[in-house]
Amino acid sequence: MICLNQVILCKYGELVLKGLNRSSFEAVLIRNVRRRLKSLGDFSYSSRQSTLFVEGDDSLCDFGEAMERLKRVFGIAKLCMAVSCEKNLDDIESTVSEYLGESLQLAQSFKVEAKRADKRFYLDSMQLMAELGGRILERYPHLTVDVKSPEVTVVVEIRDNSAYVHGMPVDGAGGIPVGTSGRALLMLSGGIDSPVAGTMMAKRGVIVSAIHFQSPPYTSERAFIKVKKLAAKISEYCGQITLFSVPFTKIQEAIRENCPEELFTIIMRRQMMEISQRLCEAYGFSAIVTGESIGQVASQTMAAMVATDSVCRLPVFRPCIGLDKKEIIDISYKIDTFDISIEPYEDCCTVFTPKHPKTKPTLAEVERAESGFDFDPLIKEALDGIAQVTLRPYEEYDF
Ligand code: ATP
Ligand code: MG
Repeated sequence: MICLNQVILCKYGELVLKGLNRSSFEAVLIRNVRRRLKSLGDFSYSSRQSTLFVEGDDSLCDFGEAMERLKRVFGIAKLCMAVSCEKNLDDIESTVSEYLGESLQLAQSFKVEAKRADKRFYLDSMQLMAELGGRILERYPHLTVDVKSPEVTVVVEIRDNSAYVHGMPVDGAGGIPVGTSGRALLMLSGGIDSPVAGTMMAKRGVIVSAIHFQSPPYTSERAFIKVKKLAAKISEYCGQITLFSVPFTKIQEAIRENCPEELFTIIMRRQMMEISQRLCEAYGFSAIVTGESIGQVASQTMAAMVATDSVCRLPVFRPCIGLDKKEIIDISYKIDTFDISIEPYEDCCTVFTPKHPKTKPTLAEVERAESGFDFDPLIKEALDGIAQVTLRPYEEYDF
């Protein structure tokens, strides 16, 4: 359908509660939306009455794809494709039939919802609903009104500048705009949990960079490609992601040669944390994020986490901590990372795994086990060997 007054209405969620900070939150949201839609046409953006209006010339802008992308922008609670028209009943009625006529033709029942933000409009919401409902019934006499569960809901919003007609809004991603809560470093493996954890932090406004530990030749190039694919995928929610890759082989071999087998994993995780936080310090990231969930595996018992965290000078956020695997998987489906995460490539965590890992290591025994070897030179070497790559949303990658 050709329609020149198309507009996407993005309704703010928590942003509405932000009081004095609100305009800076809005500015960040608009910047994020602008970046996400840049390749889809020359849209214009304006923010009024708790709503972001995304407008553009219908023949030059891909509204359908824009709608899909906007569903992945944090800070938007609900969104809908709408059509604007003059603020009078005749125009509203003909816009309804032009825009929603096909659905009304096919449906059995409908209702009208009216919102009058412009209090100067000559009908109040109830009157507008009754008037428009009557006119729709005249045009489509096969319909009945069903206020509880209608097949089609016709929404009319009377705002300051125009009237807007649309169907039921769909859910947005919620949360607050990425870039309003500081920066954190996500420890990104190729698994299911860490991409979910990173996306959950982005939902709370955090800018996420990622770090991945590789141990060639024990881990393959394909395993790293999988991690890049995951970073590119979650960038649709998180915005562009810088991915740091750390050569970790020598440290893992040193652990294998110098530490008791039952503590391999916990010591390895402490070394990962140490490297991660030195990178955070160098780049000004305020926290580390992991995909751990308590009790999920031997290295994720409370005792193991205490032993890991004792090397940390920065907060470690674990947004999946209280979720079941099933709940984490549900989110991974939603953000579309599941199919990538289950590709069968090895992770450095599965190299040299002990047969019987200690589930309740004490800090003292872990420190004693580490003390026979000076890891610091190897940590510095690993940091010097870090490579970085930036993954951007909706870019075509030749992985
Ligand atoms: P995931 O599904 O996220 O891989 P997991 O259940 O496999 O988690 P572990 O392998 O014990 O759990 O890893 C726990 C957390 O440690 C991961 O969620 C991730 O944050 C981090 N991690 C594991 N391996 C790596 C790696 N190679 N590089 C960076 N971080 C890693
Ligand atoms: Mg893993």
